[in-house]
Amino acid sequence: MNARRLRFFLRHVGEIRCAGALCGCRYGLGHCQIWNGQINDGYGLFWNGNTDLAAHRLWFEHHHGPLAPEECVCHACDNRPCVRLDHLWKGDRTLNNADMVEKGRRAPFSGEKNGRARLAEADIHEIFRLRLLGVSNKTIAKKYDVGQSHITGILSGAIWADVSKEDRIAYQKAYDAILSANLSQASRGEGNAQTKITEADVVAMRQFYRDGTHTCIRLGKMFGLGDGHVNQIIFGKKWSHVPGALPESMRRGPGRKRASLTTFTKPIL
Ligand SMILES: [Zn+2]
Ligand SMILES: [Zn+2]
Repeated sequence: MNARRLRFFLRHVGEIRCAGALCGCRYGLGHCQIWNGQINDGYGLFWNGNTDLAAHRLWFEHHHGPLAPEECVCHACDNRPCVRLDHLWKGDRTLNNADMVEKGRRAPFSGEKNGRARLAEADIHEIFRLRLLGVSNKTIAKKYDVGQSHITGILSGAIWADVSKEDRIAYQKAYDAILSANLSQASRGEGNAQTKITEADVVAMRQFYRDGTHTCIRLGKMFGLGDGHVNQIIFGKKWSHVPGALPESMRRGPGRKRASLTTFTKPIL
């Protein structure tokens, strides 16, 4: 950037101050510095005279030198319009979740002891517990007021790896069970052959439905039952001897947003 461009650029670099719910201070990183120029897809844009460039990337390169095309600039704060230099680092696009892996390496995110991470060890265990109950990443992220990618990072073991070792083993088992249930569903056929389910399955089905992460159709596929059958189980028309049937008031219509297997992140052990 020449001096003139730099002057233009600096006009759009805001003050370091609290950016609210998405601010880096929620991760103990200090407040963000929000780009006050043009924004696209959440990221700041800067017109360099020829083309629009990502402001955070340009700013990073201005200070650290040019990057290769496959290198990207990630936000430690998960806050896209932020251009605060110490919230940015160089990542690699080829790594699926480069930024989360990177966070795992960065001291501020490695655990409770340094006093900078927002979540406590107990929260990490609770996050796994909720996820195993079928609560979606999104809902959990909301509960803890962190980004969804933060939850994904925890579930995958990219961050808080030491704390979550046991949790991730349990999580892996559940993940494998769901995966095999989904795979065997094709060979079982739906709704015709009587599938053997257990009381635990009944409890799980009702829990998944109550959490809003799964529809009857989806549960039917998971457990090898027709969706009508699942419906009767959930609302206690069948398996009524197992406590915990849902009241009719919790019945939902079709088309509700739900978590899919793709949001059930494969853990790294
Ligand atoms: Zn802040
Ligand atoms: Zn920031």
